[in-house]
Amino acid sequence: MRRPRALCATHPEPDLWFSGSKSQERAALICRRCPLRPACLAHAVERPEVWGVWGGTTEEQRRALVEGTGRRFVEPAERATPVLRRDRDGDLVAVR
Ligand code: SF4
Repeated sequence: MRRPRALCATHPEPDLWFSGSKSQERAALICRRCPLRPACLAHAVERPEVWGVWGGTTEEQRRALVEGTGRRFVEPAERATPVLRRDRDGDLVAVR
């Protein structure tokens, strides 16, 4: 059985997920069709991921979700720039 693929991993403009707000709106729309969206969003809220679009949400939207659970959302400026790489399946993964 073929594993579902992240749409951001095969999109011709992967920077959409990490650039300015207009691009992030486009990325979030693409995420709505992604088969990995539920798991991606759960990961992004649990970690929490503070950069870019994850699971169809922007940083602002995840801040609201995280703070709604009583946890503190660490602002991007307080965190080190994430280092991303692609795994064997071409999916983006944070290595720190
Ligand atoms: S950020 Fe998450 S939901 Fe959006 S396309 Fe990538 S894997 Fe799918």
